[in-house]
Amino acid sequence: MAKELNKKSEKGNQLESEEIMEKIVALCKRRGFIFPGSEIYGGLKGTWDYGPLGSELKFNIKQAWWKAIVQKRQDVVGISASILMNPKVWEASGHTTSFTDPLVECKTCHQRFRADQEEIIQAHEKKHLDLKEKVEWTQPRKFNLLVEAKVGVVEGEKSTVYLRGEITQGVHVNFKNILNSSRLKIPFGVAQIGKAFRNEITPGNFTYRSIEFEQMELQYYVKPDEQESMKYYEFWKEERMKWYQDLGIKKENLRFRQHASDELAHYAKAAWDIEYRSPFGWKECEGIHHRGDWDLRRHQEFSGQDMSYFDQETGQRFIPWVIEASGGVDRAMLFFLIDAYQEEEERIVLKLSPKLAPYKAAVFPLLANKPDLVKKASELFSILKEADLGMIAWDERGNIGKRYYSQDEIGTPYCFTIDFQSLEDETVTVRDRDTTKQERIKISEATSYLKEKLLK
Ligand code: ATP
Repeated sequence: MAKELNKKSEKGNQLESEEIMEKIVALCKRRGFIFPGSEIYGGLKGTWDYGPLGSELKFNIKQAWWKAIVQKRQDVVGISASILMNPKVWEASGHTTSFTDPLVECKTCHQRFRADQEEIIQAHEKKHLDLKEKVEWTQPRKFNLLVEAKVGVVEGEKSTVYLRGEITQGVHVNFKNILNSSRLKIPFGVAQIGKAFRNEITPGNFTYRSIEFEQMELQYYVKPDEQESMKYYEFWKEERMKWYQDLGIKKENLRFRQHASDELAHYAKAAWDIEYRSPFGWKECEGIHHRGDWDLRRHQEFSGQDMSYFDQETGQRFIPWVIEASGGVDRAMLFFLIDAYQEEEERIVLKLSPKLAPYKAAVFPLLANKPDLVKKASELFSILKEADLGMIAWDERGNIGKRYYSQDEIGTPYCFTIDFQSLEDETVTVRDRDTTKQERIKISEATSYLKEKLLK
């Protein structure tokens, strides 16, 4: 009996999870966060377009990352490398031979899957078994994830290049350029945000696994010393976990997971993932990898260029080791959205960190048909926009309750309403998204009020 109940509640949970994802996907479409890529042509599997609110949220995530990793530190600089690179880069990095996933094909319906994704494989088997059909798989074979492209204008002389499978290599091939053009001393880091492309066998779970996505990565160069490199490895593990928590993800929904030795990527000496408890299970959000000297040593071998670092203090020359923190912008955004999504009795609310929220505040005239109210509200709207605090929304449609509902659903942390009292005493009401409490402040203090709240 107890077993039956457990089974039921497991099923219940699964249903609930599916429902939550459906609701989030629908909200993203309805409110302009995320649309299916090239939808009017039937879409392209594994691609997504970010709408007006989604591109704001994505921008804010990238900005928060860049601030924390580059601008607030002295030992990290940024770079923005090309997506297309000389194909030799991918030979050197090992991607042309080792950037593979195990692929199996269902012999009944010829659909292809990643052999290591047990849940998906089991669900597929169940589908056939329920229809009393046979389930048989081909032997797993290695499937390379690099996406090919052709460059060159003369027919016949086209050459094959790859859309970068990770943004990492753009940093390592520039190691000497960065050293020679800056005064960096080891340990130091190079940060980058940009698009990467992978021929994923089974894109899915909304934007979680896409074929085109953005990464935000830090490559941190350290001395080739076991103890010292592990010290920085631990430091960056903690820093990165803290970043997600500081931006509002609930602690209990985040964890570290160490890669098993048979799971390690071809370059990795050690690897831990930061995982998020999503409705579709604990899933990787970011990888912290100890890459040793793999990248620089291989580029030295393949390019014939010296990739060593000369340490002025000790007079030693060496190839540095690399600690990498590699996160996905799209995955981070999806997890921020899921974590912020709440259904309350009378409203849906996205409790996003004000630092990430697409709109920082909204301004309303209480009634749209009262020119005095509209005039005063539009003055406040201009002041807040001019203050450079981020996007400010304007809404004068429908009743005030509907406007609050609409802003709650997209995560706007504060709503300013100009009412009749505002015309008499130069005050405005501010409503807090999370508590729904209202307070009255002076219009002249609205900017500093908002600034202080956003900094928190
Ligand atoms: P997975 O095991 O989920 O395929 P991975 O271990 O291959 O991911 P990495 O190569 O470590 O991923 O890439 C670093 C980060 O880039 C990931 O933590 C993730 O946030 C992001 N990322 C990787 N692949 C994808 C993808 N197909 N779609 C969206 N984001 C991705």
